[in-house]
Amino acid sequence: MKKILITRKLLKTCEEKASKTFQATFNDNDELYSQSKVVEMSNGCDGILTSLTDKMDADTINKLPDSIKILSNFAVGFGNIDLDAAKKKGIVVTNTPDVLTDATAEIGILLILGACRRASEGIESAKESGWKWSADYLIGKQLTGARLGILGMGRIGQKIAKIAKSLGMIIHYHNRSKLSEEKEQGATYHDNLKDLLSVSDVLSICCPASKETIDMINKETIEYLPKGAVVTNVARGDIVEDEALIDALNRRKVYAVGLDVYKNEPNLNPGYLKHKSAFILPHLGSATKETRTAMANLAIDNIDEFFKTGKCKNKVN
Ligand code: NAP
Repeated sequence: MKKILITRKLLKTCEEKASKTFQATFNDNDELYSQSKVVEMSNGCDGILTSLTDKMDADTINKLPDSIKILSNFAVGFGNIDLDAAKKKGIVVTNTPDVLTDATAEIGILLILGACRRASEGIESAKESGWKWSADYLIGKQLTGARLGILGMGRIGQKIAKIAKSLGMIIHYHNRSKLSEEKEQGATYHDNLKDLLSVSDVLSICCPASKETIDMINKETIEYLPKGAVVTNVARGDIVEDEALIDALNRRKVYAVGLDVYKNEPNLNPGYLKHKSAFILPHLGSATKETRTAMANLAIDNIDEFFKTGKCKNKVN
């Protein structure tokens, strides 16, 4: 049986499956391991089931024992792993696509609704029993007829588009490559970010964090948005320059933000905490029982497939 280090506690049924599949080392107290602890604990192991909280940078990867052949990431994103360093060391990296698309798209829609309909302010006011209804009380932005710009219309972006369309939104998107008509579902393609932003009454960021997308939403690009646009991010915090977005909120260039992900999570920029127009969640995208189970099972299957066949369909490097 292969020896696998599992860096974070998984749901019970998934740990049971892992026990049947490998000789697994679990993290019963769900301790947040340091990089050096991951290296130390991986001694004698054949692979590691990592999570987005494990920063597997080049230095950490280079220190891993030569016996490690796979890093199976418990996420579709893999910005926490230096893919090139892993490749150089002959380590395969895998992810968990598809199984988390629906749950994450649901949160993507919640961010849009929460930001547009002033949910944070509404929740606060409802808790203070003194709120007073009036015709113009907490008026928000209606989604019907609003243009939704999707930055990164892949699996999650397409699902958000489908739901948003049913709410009456008009869909625009930007990817590096245009989708087939079937996948576009009537959405309008923009081959550059500036054109997409200029028609985005609401922006939904759904692309991966990469060298190309880091700080893509910044002081300069925010200016391409229509005045009073709403910015939501269900993908990764690294794509947004926080100071620029908070400044845009303060001067009402941006009407509201809906965020699930942040730079330096969980230590998000305090500027968001103070802002009443910020609808913020603690990285809940894939957090349903069904999805977390499916993700962990897929991460386990990826390791199993790799050691049985020498290949894995979810290899990303
Ligand atoms: P996906 O199917 O690979 O879609 C990514 C999309 O982004 C593709 O359409 C891709 O199109 C586009 N893209 C990539 N690089 C781009 C660039 N430089 N400029 C413009 N567009 C670019 O991935 P997915 O499954 O939808 O997941 C998307 C991301 O969501 C993940 O990477 C992850 O970080 C995040 N996520 C977050 C949560 C959460 O808990 N909040 C949960 C799951 C996933 P082209 O290749 O044509 O450019």
